[in-house]
Amino acid sequence: MMFSNYDSLEHVRATCLRCQLCPLHGSRTEVVFGAGDVDASILLIGQGPSLTDNETGLPYSGPAGELLDTALEQAGLSRHNLWVTNIHKCLATRVNPKTNVEEQRPPKMSEVKACRYWLDEELHWIKPDVLVVIGGSAAKVMLGKDFKLSEQRGQWMEGPGQLPLLATYQPTYLKRLNEWDRPAAIKGWRELVHDLKQVRERVESPSSASSSEESA
Ligand code: SF4
Repeated sequence: MMFSNYDSLEHVRATCLRCQLCPLHGSRTEVVFGAGDVDASILLIGQGPSLTDNETGLPYSGPAGELLDTALEQAGLSRHNLWVTNIHKCLATRVNPKTNVEEQRPPKMSEVKACRYWLDEELHWIKPDVLVVIGGSAAKVMLGKDFKLSEQRGQWMEGPGQLPLLATYQPTYLKRLNEWDRPAAIKGWRELVHDLKQVRERVESPSSASSSEESA
């Protein structure tokens, strides 16, 4: 986004908190706008708010956030130096017809498209050097439906505004995987931490990243 419709990130946030651009506004408790360091070099993008985030109004604030923090710490990163946000800012839910219990659901494409407006504003104001995308669904939104996390995870790709973008595993996916395939989950966790280390190294020494790409 070359231009913003607002005069500050705080103005963007305040307006987003009243957003009714898509039907998800009707089922949310809190809008979960991005949070973190406004001067961050790294902007991390997840799919959407969890049930806990919907109550706190903060991204990755529940158990998913604890797992993410652990992976970041093992890679030498801290979310205090990142801007953390999501593809869609309001919780997407449906009522399970079998149990009659409200549960999370994937967002509809129309909801994702509507909320891109806010992500583009965050990109404009944070001006990150690199993007990290968590999970295959979020990566498909950023890179197109042909993106395959199983094949392209951990590779530097070109994101919006020609920003370097790297997609990696969703930590909660690895936790679920651990319940039925522990070796695969352990391998996946190592790859997740390795990916995040790549990100740290890229922002710490961007010239070495570009020279290694040129020689590749
Ligand atoms: S999901 Fe995004 S576009 Fe939809 S109401 Fe929430 S903030 Fe607005």
